[in-house]
Amino acid sequence: MSLKDQIKSLAATLGYHACGIAGVQPFEDYRTSLHELAQRFPESAELCRRMERRAEPLGLNPWARAIVICVRRYGKYAIPETVASHIGRNYLCDRRIKDCPDTTMPKRMKDGLTALGIRVRTGGVPSREAAVRAGIVQIGKNGFAYAPGCGSWINIEAWMVDAALEPDIPAPPAPCPEGCHACLDACRTKALAEPYVTRIHHCIAYLTYEAPEPIPPELEAKMGPWIYGCDDCQRVCPMNQGQWSATEPAPWITGVVDALTPGALAVMDPETYARVVHPLFGYIPLNNLNRWHTNAKRAFGKMNELMK
Ligand code: SF4
Ligand code: SF4
Repeated sequence: MSLKDQIKSLAATLGYHACGIAGVQPFEDYRTSLHELAQRFPESAELCRRMERRAEPLGLNPWARAIVICVRRYGKYAIPETVASHIGRNYLCDRRIKDCPDTTMPKRMKDGLTALGIRVRTGGVPSREAAVRAGIVQIGKNGFAYAPGCGSWINIEAWMVDAALEPDIPAPPAPCPEGCHACLDACRTKALAEPYVTRIHHCIAYLTYEAPEPIPPELEAKMGPWIYGCDDCQRVCPMNQGQWSATEPAPWITGVVDALTPGALAVMDPETYARVVHPLFGYIPLNNLNRWHTNAKRAFGKMNELMK
């Protein structure tokens, strides 16, 4: 078996849905779109500047010869709609959650590559663009990556390696059905400014967590029921219809459903938050409970409004 086949076989054994190989040449289109974004939306300039480093894979890793890219499918977990209606599914199926069975996949992949005698560095590249280059995903007009058989309910993981592997054939562009703009219509804050252009600082996923507070009232008024993240532009997408098949349990969510309602989160005490909720989102500072309160109160108000 060739080294490339051994790597793909390793990825499949670990549960990855797909694995591809990309070259390490600069990601010029990625760089150009970051420049355009920064020029058009100055509030995004600093973030774009930080992201631009990844356009040059060999910048910090001149030894790299190829990029190994894998797709992890999370659209298989039984996440209750009562939670997924206001917390993004990506966060509920995050492999960083310690009870999620996928937790160790990246480390095991890295260890497996190392055991094959390969020097490895995790990340360091624009993962979506690298996955397109490796032929395993296509990008929709909503900016999300879609993999055959998964829709956009995926995560992409990348490793730079020093093995000279033959790159796979890039994926063709534009998978969207002609004339479709359902995602743009569904975007409440108009963060999807136009096809393939996301105004990051207007995206609810950013506004519910990273954005400095207070959120501009005109944006906050449009955030709907979302407490953390937003799936609107993925839920309406025809390419996602039938792509979530809940074949595997998600006890780390089903076991704490009552704590994840807008009503419960709106008034949650610090002890319950630290014990029950925070372990799911451990990368968020523990002292961020106020933000959960604010988001949950807004979502709770929105739900009550809809029920009137
Ligand atoms: S995640 Fe939500 S706010 Fe962000 S682009 Fe999609 S629909 Fe718009
Ligand atoms: S909703 Fe339509 S335009 Fe948007 S990503 Fe899906 S298929 Fe493409």
